[in-house]
Amino acid sequence: MDKPILVTKSSLPPIEEYIELIQDIWESAWLTNMGRYHIELEAKLKKYLGVEELILLTNGHLAIELCLQALELTGEVITTPFSFASTTHAIVRAGLTPVFCDINEDDYTIDVDKIEALITERTSAILPVHVYGNICNVEKIDELAKKYNLKVIYDAAHTFGERYKGVGVGSLGDASIFSFHATKVYNTIEGGALSCADKALRKRMEYLKNFGITDKERVDFVGSNAKMSEFQAAMGLCNLKYIDEYILKRRHIVEEYNKGLKDVKGIKLNTYRADISYNYAYMPIYISEEYTLGRDELYDLLASYNIFARKYFYPCINAYACYKDRFDENATPIAKKISQGILTLPIYPDLDLSVVDKICNIIRKGK
Ligand SMILES: *Cc1c(COP(=O)(O)O)cnc(C)c1O
Repeated sequence: MDKPILVTKSSLPPIEEYIELIQDIWESAWLTNMGRYHIELEAKLKKYLGVEELILLTNGHLAIELCLQALELTGEVITTPFSFASTTHAIVRAGLTPVFCDINEDDYTIDVDKIEALITERTSAILPVHVYGNICNVEKIDELAKKYNLKVIYDAAHTFGERYKGVGVGSLGDASIFSFHATKVYNTIEGGALSCADKALRKRMEYLKNFGITDKERVDFVGSNAKMSEFQAAMGLCNLKYIDEYILKRRHIVEEYNKGLKDVKGIKLNTYRADISYNYAYMPIYISEEYTLGRDELYDLLASYNIFARKYFYPCINAYACYKDRFDENATPIAKKISQGILTLPIYPDLDLSVVDKICNIIRKGK
């Protein structure tokens, strides 16, 4: 490739449309603190995502951190090590102890049959991840949460706009968090949100994102600063107009990849279920021993053609240097194995299908 093909590329609306909104910001001189665009975007996203309550935040990570605080959790939180750093970091930064559960080999989400053995008297919540847009076994998680009186917070950063059996993915569990980071399916430059059905939780999140200030002369919580600015909200309004088009284009790309790679020995593709409306956020492939190259060799081969895939997620969170001597990667063998064989391929709305075909040809040829 003449120009490097990166794993992702931020979706941008026509610049004139953004400038038009920005002009209004100049006129009002209202830059942040729940301005006009913030209010408008919150209402529109609530509808689009099919959720009862939605709180906009400046990123997805703070949505997790503040949600853990808002729910007044204590002790241990069960999560998976096959995720982005944010999920576990949020638990640790909230003063809680992460307990790692292994994942399924087929869809990379939490293995619900292994949760119960990890529940102790100190467990207060489960924080599972809908990996690559694959939705967790929510029925079983719900059953366990009821049985042991646990809160469930879904890291839904990968599932913007998805529906599960017809309902918005953000209406599952006690709360869900979304990321609108530049590299995600839908972006507000940096941004995120929390969705829930509980009005009291919503109120508390609103306080926590604004330093815990509850009234002009009153501060009731040790809050943070996690407000979305008007510039972010304006970008969100512009991108929202095109989101269905973005997702449709992604779908065509995934279909093209799947067509090109379906018969390659040792390459496992993501499976798609009829009860989930996917957003096609990622194009993961799992490379097994049956393939002609190892995962790292395939990564290097693609890079030699100026094509940059991503080892995502690798390493597992319980193998991070910052958690050395604290967690054991071998306690979650499936997550370890998947992280060593996974590769996500380039995908973004304006990625040319001819480039996808070239990538497939390189992979098909292998060594
Ligand atoms: C992107 C991401 C986050 C963090 O979101 P930010 O908006 O970047 O803070 C959390 N969890 C997962 C799984 C993510 O992919």
